[in-house]
Amino acid sequence: MRSCRSASPFGPVGDRLLIDTHCHLDAPEFDQDRDGVLQAAREAGVAGFLVPAVDAASFDRVAALAARRDDCCFALGIHPLFVREARPSDLALLKERLKEGRAVAVGEIGLDGFVPDGDLPLQQTYFQAQLRLAVEFDLPVVLHVRRAQDEILKQLRRLRPRGGIAHAFNGSHQQAEAFIGLGFRLGFGGAMTYPGSRRIRALAATLPLDSIVLETDAPDIPPAWGAGRRNDPVNLKRFAAVLAELRGLPVEAVEAATGRNALAALPGLGSLRVREAGPLQGQSGPTDCGQ
Ligand SMILES: [Zn+2]
Repeated sequence: MRSCRSASPFGPVGDRLLIDTHCHLDAPEFDQDRDGVLQAAREAGVAGFLVPAVDAASFDRVAALAARRDDCCFALGIHPLFVREARPSDLALLKERLKEGRAVAVGEIGLDGFVPDGDLPLQQTYFQAQLRLAVEFDLPVVLHVRRAQDEILKQLRRLRPRGGIAHAFNGSHQQAEAFIGLGFRLGFGGAMTYPGSRRIRALAATLPLDSIVLETDAPDIPPAWGAGRRNDPVNLKRFAAVLAELRGLPVEAVEAATGRNALAALPGLGSLRVREAGPLQGQSGPTDCGQ
């Protein structure tokens, strides 16, 4: 995957840029108003979106969305809670699609020990096979990590992908440091907006700023101000403000740093071309980036 940051429409790294590093915009929850949702987020200042697949059936959906929108890119993978419906041939299909070179990451993949009947051995089979594909194609990975931090860390140490993002991070400080040591950034979003989320808020406040990226996980994990409702990527703007408050920093500094971190974690984001209305208007232009 070519990094083409110098030709990025985002301008020099360090500009204010809000990137939603994890949103399921292909989900049926957005079928009625997808473009309106994206436009609202763009008008709020969100410049780019990473849309991860969750199963083979979503590979075409996320790719089609990214082909249609210059502000969206996609990752391909089989989510741990979808492995029961998956077939081994889905891994062969994943490999074929990764070969095409348009996905910016392998994801959403990982392990989920929270769901009682989640079939962890089968999750492990798919997780390890997909980590190997990430290594083979030298792509970052987008991780789903729930009640399985140490087991995931073990596989990362063994198979050594190039890094990526541990999304919706909710582990301990020590586990956070272990992910960071393996080249991962940690995703923070809706959960940190709840005053009761003490551990997550403490992590967001104290981890090195260069290890943090912002995400919504829309339509899931709604924030405190939208509990029980669909989560939309427009909320990312307020997530940046929450993070800034937690860290005692100007919001501009948080937006710049998390945007920079997102580009570092997912170099393929640099191929996004932003040409619609929004705060980055005027910065778009021809780039020499292939995808
Ligand atoms: Zn997700």
